[in-house]
Amino acid sequence: MHKLRLMIPGPTPVPPQVSEAMARPMIGHRSKDFAALMERLQSKLRQVLQTENEVIVTTSSGTGGMETAVANTVNPGDKVLVLEAGKFGERWLELTRVYGADVEELHFEWGRPYDLEAVKARLDAHPDIKAVFATLNETSTGVVHDIAGLGALLKGRDTLLVVDGVSGIGGIDFNPDETGVDILVTASQKALMVPPGLAIVSVSAKAWQVIEKCRSPRYYFSLKKARKSLAKWNTAYTPGVSLFFALEAALDLILDEGLVNVFHRHDLMARATRRAVKVLGLELLPPEEYASPVVTAVKAPDGIKVDDLRKLLLDKYGVLFAGGQASLKGKIFRIAHMGYADRMDVLTAVASLEMALVELGYPVQLGSGVRAAQEVFLGGAE
Ligand code: PMP
Repeated sequence: MHKLRLMIPGPTPVPPQVSEAMARPMIGHRSKDFAALMERLQSKLRQVLQTENEVIVTTSSGTGGMETAVANTVNPGDKVLVLEAGKFGERWLELTRVYGADVEELHFEWGRPYDLEAVKARLDAHPDIKAVFATLNETSTGVVHDIAGLGALLKGRDTLLVVDGVSGIGGIDFNPDETGVDILVTASQKALMVPPGLAIVSVSAKAWQVIEKCRSPRYYFSLKKARKSLAKWNTAYTPGVSLFFALEAALDLILDEGLVNVFHRHDLMARATRRAVKVLGLELLPPEEYASPVVTAVKAPDGIKVDDLRKLLLDKYGVLFAGGQASLKGKIFRIAHMGYADRMDVLTAVASLEMALVELGYPVQLGSGVRAAQEVFLGGAE
C-alpha cells in the first residue's frame, strides 16, 4: 500500500466535504441556482479575504489571477516597481515586462524579507511609479513579507499596491483593506483547500478607476467584463462550476472553524515544525520572525542530498515534501502545513523526517523532533 501524504505548498489535501461538493450533479451556469451560489460566494469570499472590495473569481490557476492584475492595470510604458525575493516575485517581473511596463526592479536575497528602506528610497526617487507588485507569502523561500509596512509607505500616494497572496490567504492573518492593498490575488489550491483551477482577485475602488482607463489588450481576463457579469451574479464565460461548488464548501469550513482559529492553527503548526527542525540540528532558511505560518523552508543538512531525502520520504513513508526552486534547488526542502492540515500532520512530517535522516546516515535522535513539536502543541515550549 502507498498512502500519499501531501505536504507540498499546493496543491494541498482536499477535505472530504470539498471533494463531495465537487461530485454534485452539474447545473447550468446561467441558472438561478448558479446566481444564488455566486451571491453567497461573494459574501463568503469577502469574509475570508477580509475585504469589503469586490472579489472576482476566474477559472484559471493563480498565475492567471496575476496576469489579470497586470493586464488590467499596466499600459505599455507605465512605470511599475516589482519587489523580487523569490520565484514568485520573479513571476511579477516576467508578467509586467510582457505587458510592456517600464519596470523598476528591487531584488532581495532569497530567504530574506523585503528591505523597506530600499523600497522607500526607490519610491522617492521615482514619484511616477504607478503600481507596486509584491508577494505576501513567498512560497519558494518560506518568507512572509511585511506588506503592512509596505502599505504604510504607500499611504497618501496614487500608486496602486498589487499583492500576490496565492499561498498566504486562508492561512495567514492579513487585512488587505487596512493595509491599502488595491488588488489581492489568490488561488484555490493552497490554504483555501480546493483543487487547482480558480484564481480569486479582489479589486479596490481606486484600482477600478485605473482599470477603466487601461489600454492593454485583454479578453478572457478582462476585469471590466467580469464585473459586469458579477453585477448579475454571473461570470462572463463558462466557469468551472464544480470548483465553485468546492470553493463554497471550503469557505464554509473556514468560516465554521472561525478565521481567528484558522490563523492560530497555522501559526501553531509552523512553530511546532520550526522547533522540531531546529532540535534535529537543521537550519531554517528565513529568519524566524519572517518565517511563514504555512510553509517551512529548511536548509539541506550537511552531506545529505535533498533529492535523496525527498525520494526516501515519498517512496517509503508516502510523505511528499517540496524541494527548492531555481537557485534554491538542492539547497532546501519545504514542509507545507497549509489548509487541510493539523497537529498530527506535523507529527507525521517530523517523525518521517527523523527516520529518513537516520537511514541516510545523518545523526539525529529518534523522537527528539517529535517531542519538541509535541511540547509546542502542549504549550510547554515556544
Ligand atoms: N504565487 C505564489 C506565491 C505561489 O505560491 C504560486 C503557486 N505555487 C503562484 C503564484 C502561481 O500559482 P499557479 O501555479 O496556480 O499558477
